[in-house]
Amino acid sequence: MDILVIWLIITPLFFAFGWFAGRIDMKTVLKQAKLVPQRLFDSIDAMVDNKTGVARDELKQVIEQEPQLIDLQFSLGRLYRKRGENDLAIKLHSKLLGSQFVLSNDIKDKIKLELAQDFQKAGLIDRAENILVKLVNSEFYGHQALELLLLIYQQDKNWHEAIETARKLATSDISFHTEVAQFNCEIAQEAIIKSDYITAHKHLEYALTTNRRCVRANILLGEIHFNQENYSAAINIWQQIEKQNYQYLQFVITKMFEAYQRQDMIKEFINLINGYTTLYPQLNIYSFIINVLANHISHDAQVEYLRNAMLHSPSARVAALLINTRFEELEMPEGKSDASHIRDLLLKYDEKYSHYSCGCCNFKAKTFFWQCPACYEWESISPSNNDK
Ligand SMILES: [Zn+2]
Repeated sequence: MDILVIWLIITPLFFAFGWFAGRIDMKTVLKQAKLVPQRLFDSIDAMVDNKTGVARDELKQVIEQEPQLIDLQFSLGRLYRKRGENDLAIKLHSKLLGSQFVLSNDIKDKIKLELAQDFQKAGLIDRAENILVKLVNSEFYGHQALELLLLIYQQDKNWHEAIETARKLATSDISFHTEVAQFNCEIAQEAIIKSDYITAHKHLEYALTTNRRCVRANILLGEIHFNQENYSAAINIWQQIEKQNYQYLQFVITKMFEAYQRQDMIKEFINLINGYTTLYPQLNIYSFIINVLANHISHDAQVEYLRNAMLHSPSARVAALLINTRFEELEMPEGKSDASHIRDLLLKYDEKYSHYSCGCCNFKAKTFFWQCPACYEWESISPSNNDK
């Protein structure tokens, strides 16, 4: 065959192969391009359905194909943290920080902030703190770094640093006065345990200057006076709680009674609690009051007090206490047995449903906390634990 004819046949074939090859590559590219967003949608759907494991796997595959999508890497890191996979989040952010991508300083700061959050969640407080103290001057992430530092100092019970950090964060909108007062109370509480009353007193004064409504400061100030056997000063301080928030009186009433008792002033104390129960019938000190009335006044006074409480603030606890108080008046054994069953049932109900609860996150506990252990808010737990 003539060489020219051969070339005439081969040349179009080359073009044809090239065209087919191009078509195949384009199809692959288009297929991949379609797959990337689809996996992203699958991930979002899985998140909506609360299937975070599926969401994580889909997102991971997208990132393996498109590692330059830094924002998606941040999303995956947050997802790891949400699932408690803190080690994976640490690995991801550390790898990203050391990657060959050209990253701006802002992006580097953001990665460091994410890494600090990973360490904080993993309980590696020191490593988180090391990163954050270097980030506080960051233009875009300095404020967030300070917020996280504030949380870390609280976790670490480093109250002095917490006070300084809260002051740096304070603005005209958010003053942090509740928190700063509570941090001072924490320092005072530690000092009281060590009988260092001068330090304790100083920090409680700071607490009240920062937040004059800080009930805890007055509770502790009264405690200092009580421990120093200065009972009338303790009583004067504790009585101020009524003006701040009467519901907290339940936390000092027993000690107050002791302070009155040591001064031989039982009558004055009875007058005081008569005033409290008249003004605040819902004040949760029923068990304490009926014991005082039984021991120092009369059985009839007990009954009258509980009847009044049932009228103004009925609850399972008050009903059980009323039955208990009148139990001996029942003559028939069957009547006593019935009353006993009803009283026990009411007490079980009270035990089951009475709790302290957080107004921010609805955390419930049998013990009162000044700071919610679940959401870390201060004074978000109501001192009232009456059964609902
Ligand atoms: Zn809470």
